[in-house]
Amino acid sequence: MRAARPGGGLSGADAMLRAWLLLCAGLALPAGGEDDGGDGGACTYSFTVTGPGEAGCAEAGGALRAELAALAARLSLLESREAGAPPGPAQGPRGCGELRRAAARLEEDKRRLEREKEELRRRAESGARELARLREAGCGRRGDGPRRDGGPGRPRTVGYQELKSARMEVPAADLLEETARGHPGAGASGCGELVWVGEPVVFGQADSIAGKYGVWMKDPEPVLPFTRATTWRVDTVGTEVRQLFQYDDDEQFGKGYPAKVYILPRALESTGAVVYRGSLYFQQRHSRLLAKYNLREEAIAAEKEIPGAGYHGQYPYSWGGYTDIDLAVDESGLWVIYSTEKAKGAIVLSRLDPETLEIQRTWETNIRKQSVANAFIICGVLYTISSYAVPNATVNFSYDTATGTSQPLSIPFQNRYQYLSMVDYNPTERQLFAWDSFHMVAYPIRLAHA
Ligand code: CA
Repeated sequence: MRAARPGGGLSGADAMLRAWLLLCAGLALPAGGEDDGGDGGACTYSFTVTGPGEAGCAEAGGALRAELAALAARLSLLESREAGAPPGPAQGPRGCGELRRAAARLEEDKRRLEREKEELRRRAESGARELARLREAGCGRRGDGPRRDGGPGRPRTVGYQELKSARMEVPAADLLEETARGHPGAGASGCGELVWVGEPVVFGQADSIAGKYGVWMKDPEPVLPFTRATTWRVDTVGTEVRQLFQYDDDEQFGKGYPAKVYILPRALESTGAVVYRGSLYFQQRHSRLLAKYNLREEAIAAEKEIPGAGYHGQYPYSWGGYTDIDLAVDESGLWVIYSTEKAKGAIVLSRLDPETLEIQRTWETNIRKQSVANAFIICGVLYTISSYAVPNATVNFSYDTATGTSQPLSIPFQNRYQYLSMVDYNPTERQLFAWDSFHMVAYPIRLAHA
C-alpha cells in the first residue's frame, strides 16, 4: 500500500514535472471564474515566456499557459481569502504584480525541471546503450550471483558500476573487480584501497525544503522481508525528525512514493544514520545516545551512549547540521565516527557490536573533524572529503585502522550540487551514497590492491 508523503517526498525530475503539472491541473479545477478577463478592476495573469515584461494580463497561450493562469487564479483566490477579502474586484494591482512575479518564478522552476528531465533522459539513454554494449562484450558478472540472504539478485545498480568501471583506463590486473576471483581474504566484495570515485548518479530528488538534506541508504546485509533493493530515506531538516521512508526499489524511490512510513519512537539527529542487518542505527536527538531500531519489529532493540562523544554542534563536520556522530558500515561491520574533548576535535572512530552497540575498539586519528566535509569507511580505512561546497572536492585523507596511520590523498570527488550533507559507503553495492542539496546520489568507486 502506498502511504501519503508527510512532509515532502522526493521524485526524479520526470516525476516532479508530472507532479507539478498535476498540481496545476488539480488547482485549476475549483478556480471557478477567477481566471477570466480583467473587467471590474480584477487582474488576469499572463505568463508568456517570450515576453515576461508585458503589462497585458489577458493573453491565453498553450496548455501550459492555461495551467499557469489557472494556478495563478487559484493563488489569487487563496491570497484574497487569506487577507479576509472576497476574490475578484476587491483585489488591487499590488496583488496582481506580486502574483505575476510568483508565476514567473514558477515558470522558471518548470523550465529548470524540464532541463533536468532532458539531461536525465539523455544520460539514461547513453547509459543503457553503453550497458548493452558491455553485456554483448560478456561483462555483467557482478550482481548476478547469489546473495547472502538468498533473495533474487538485482543487477541494476551494479550494472552502472560495471559501466563506469569499464570506462576506467586502469590496468585490469590492478583492479579488484577484475581480481575478485583470487584476492586472499577478500571474498566476493574484495578489499583494497580507494583509488577512484566516479561521477554522481542521481537516484532521487526531494521536492520540498524538508529534503534539502538528509540520509538515504540501502542495507548491505538485508534481512527478509527486506532486500538489497529496499531503499531507506530520512529527511533531516527540522528539529523533530522521526519519519523513516521505505521504498521497495529504485523506481519507487525515484518517484518519491514510499511503500511505508515509519514513525521512530525517538527523534533522530544528524545525517549519520545507517541501515544494517535489518535495523536502523541512529543518533538520538540532542544526546550521545545511539539507538538500534529493528525495522521488522518496529521497536528499539538496543541503546548505548558513546562516552565523551560531542553532539549537537560540538564536533560536526564542516558542513555543520549536527553531524557530530556519524555511523558507518564497511565490509567488517558497524562503526561510529565522532570526536571528544580528550581528542580535542580530532576524529575518533570506534567499532561497534551491532547487536548491543558496545564499543569493541577505538582509534584516535589526527584529522580534525571540523576541517573535513564528511567521512566514510572502506575495508577498515577511514576516508574524508575536503569540502561539502566546492564542485571539485577531493577525498583528502585516509586513516588505516590496521596500521594506525593516516596519509593525505587527492582523489577527485565531485560535489555536483554543492551542498553535500551526507556520504556513506555501501560495501555490497560498492558505491558511495550521498545527499547533495535535495539530490540523492550514488558514486561508483574503484578499489585497488595496496
Ligand atoms: Ca558519513
